[in-house]
Order: sequence, then C-alpha cells, then structure tokens
Amino acid sequence: MSKAVIVGGGIGGLATAIGLIRGGWEVEVLERAARIAEVGAGISLWSNALRALDALGVGDQVRARAIEDGAAGIRDSKGRWISRVDTETIRARFGSPIVMHRADLLDILHAALPEEALRTGVSVREARTDGTVIHSGGTSMGDLVVGADGVRSVVRRAICGDITPRYRGYSAWRVVVSPAQPITELGESWGRGERFGFVPLSDGRVYCFAVANMPEGTPGGGLAELRRRFGTWHDPIPSLLASAEESAVLKHDLYDLPALKTYVAERIALIGDAAHAMTPNLGQGACQALEDAVILARVATEDPDLTRYDQERRPRTQMLVTRSRRIGTIAQLSSPPVVALRNAALRLIPASVQANSLAPVLDRTC
Ligand SMILES: Cc1cc2nc3c(=O)[nH]c(=O)nc-3n(C[C@H](O)[C@H](O)[C@H](O)COP(=O)(O)OP(=O)(O)OC[C@H]3O[C@@H](n4cnc5c(N)ncnc54)[C@H](O)[C@@H]3O)c2cc1C
Repeated sequence: MSKAVIVGGGIGGLATAIGLIRGGWEVEVLERAARIAEVGAGISLWSNALRALDALGVGDQVRARAIEDGAAGIRDSKGRWISRVDTETIRARFGSPIVMHRADLLDILHAALPEEALRTGVSVREARTDGTVIHSGGTSMGDLVVGADGVRSVVRRAICGDITPRYRGYSAWRVVVSPAQPITELGESWGRGERFGFVPLSDGRVYCFAVANMPEGTPGGGLAELRRRFGTWHDPIPSLLASAEESAVLKHDLYDLPALKTYVAERIALIGDAAHAMTPNLGQGACQALEDAVILARVATEDPDLTRYDQERRPRTQMLVTRSRRIGTIAQLSSPPVVALRNAALRLIPASVQANSLAPVLDRTC
C-alpha cells in the first residue's frame, strides 16, 4: 500500500486525506495545533465545492448542517441597491451556494477519517522531494507528501524556495453573533474602502464579516473599531454589532500568493492556500482546496507522476487568485468620486452578465 504524509490538518489537508484513503492509501496527517479545529467564523461554499465534497462522500452531511446562501447582491452603506443578483438563475444554472460554521465543516471532514491517521501537536520543519518529512515528532517518509500547510507553507520551500505572500492593502474582521431578533435576510454592503456582510447560519446565529483598507499589521481593531466604522450603516448592521462579543471578534490581514511556476516536485504536491492563497473576495479559497483534494487524490492514485495534477490545477487556481484580487481592488475603492462612478457602473450591469461571469468559476466538476 502506498503511503501519503499530509502536512496540515485544515480543510484542504483533511479533504485530501479522505480522498487518498478512498483511493486505498495509508495516510498520516501532521498538524501542528494541539487539536483539529477551525476559527470561529462562517464559510460560504459554492456549488463547485459541493461537487468536490460529493466526490469525497460527505456532501450530504455538509448540506444537512448548512443553509442555502441566497447571494442577494450589493448595497451601499445606506442600504440602497448597487447590484442585485438573480438568485433563481444562479440556482438553476449552477446550484445553490451554502453557508455554514467552519467548525461544522471541519467536524464532518475529521469524522470521516480514522483517528490513527491524525497526529496533532506535530510541527513540520522541512519536507524533501524524495518524500522525507522532518518534524517535531521525528521523521516520516511518504510515497507522496502533500503540502496543505497554508499560506506560510514550510513544504512549499522544497519546491520553490522562499515566496513572500503579498498583503493586499485591507484587513478582514469575522464574528459570529447571536442576534436579539432573528435575521432571515443576508447581504453585503460597500462603502468607501470598507465593506460589511452578514449571513444567517442554520442555528439562528449570524456570520458577519467586514473589510477595511489599512496598512499591514495595524494593531487593535476590536469590536469598538467595528462599531465606529459600521455602527451607522443600514439595518440590521448596528443591531448585529450590538449583539457581538469582543472575545468572538477575529481580525486578519489579507494576503495572496504570487503565481508559483509549479505545484509539484517529484513526490511533493501543494494544495490549497500553500499553493494558491487568494483574497476571500470570491469566496473560493476553501472551495479550490476541496477541488485540489479530489483531483490530487485521483491523479496520485492513478500515476506517481504528479505533473497532471499541476497541469489541471495551476491555470484554474491562478486565474481565480487574479480574479479575486481584481474584485478586491474594485470593492475597496475609497475616493468618493471614484466610488460614485463605480456604484453607477455596477447598477448598469444586467444580472445575466453577472451570472455569465460566474460560469468559469462554478462550471467545474471534479
Ligand atoms: C476572512 C476570510 C474569509 C474567507 N471566506 C471564505 C469563504 O467564504 N469561502 C471559501 O471557500 N474560502 C474562504 N476563505 C479562504 C479559506 O479560509 C482558505 O482558502 C482555506 O481555509 C485554506 O485551507 P487550507 O487547508 O489550504 O489551509 P489552512 O486553513 O491555512 O490550514 C493549514 C493547516 O496547516 C497547519 N500547519 C501550518 N504549518 C504547519 C507546520 N509547519 N506543521 C504542521 N502543521 C502546519 C495549520 O495549523 C492549519 O491547520 C476565507 C479566508 C479568509 C481569511
């Protein structure tokens, strides 16, 4: 039986482990955290990701713990529509996106794996293209080594040396709140260099996210700043922020990766953010990690030469990194006349054009 060593027990690493085990591999997942866990936030998964989860045999479990994301469109800070999404067309053409808590997604992936496949509290220091992985618990050897260790991947160094992630000029907050009044709608609103979005989760809580332009590493940024920036925006944003708890607020600078020349070298393959970290503007980072997982498991099971994985995944994922960055540039415009022009231009785009623009992103079956 062939053996795979997977570095990283996030969404991408666990999904790849499931795919490889289904292909008959012995798997060892090395995760540096003390336990398999995700941050306290929501995640949207588009139909391409749901098809990947179906291929891994866990799609129905995921749907059962999620709710459909209606993708309503974009408003301005006063609540006036800038752009409406034709939800029915998107649903009919591509299938519905869903939203769920990240912890639920990770639980489902975790539960699909035999416990002996997971080694937590193990920090990888180096991976070599011959399949050697050196870590805090010793050395592991694999016929395949999967770098699923995120945007600051150690495994990536074996393939392309030091690559510095690029800060994109804006940071994101995420917080899950229990609103005083039930929220059934969802929405994303754009101001000047700032955005706020909210989506109900299946248990009545609401996943809120916000984005603002600022220098890299800007300190602070807790609940007080969120309320200062967004507390006067349209309903229900002020009341959602009133329900938020300081300890639940997450804030992260947003990065993407420059285009790597390859995702593979001999026995190593990179997946997910280690290969193609992208800004979250398209909501495709984890979706792409799930596509990677299915395709890598299939290719590696058929042929030890990983070139086909690189050929199938690199053009698509790098196209999405670029697309996501461009959307971010437009969404984070801050000069008042330019924002007014942007909003006027977006109001003129027919919903059918928007739906067509999603085709290259969503029309993909693993
Ligand atoms: C604000 C925000 C919102 C987002 N929203 C969405 C969304 O709605 N939809 C979507 O599809 N995507 C979204 N994304 C992107 C998505 O979160 C990522 O693309 C996805 O989590 C990447 O998964 P991964 O498994 O590749 O990497 P990670 O989630 O980064 O997992 C890497 C794992 O490797 C472990 N690790 C790292 N280094 C080592 C080491 N040396 N040794 C051992 N273990 C190690 C880490 O502890 C971690 O568990 C969002 C991202 C952000 C920042």
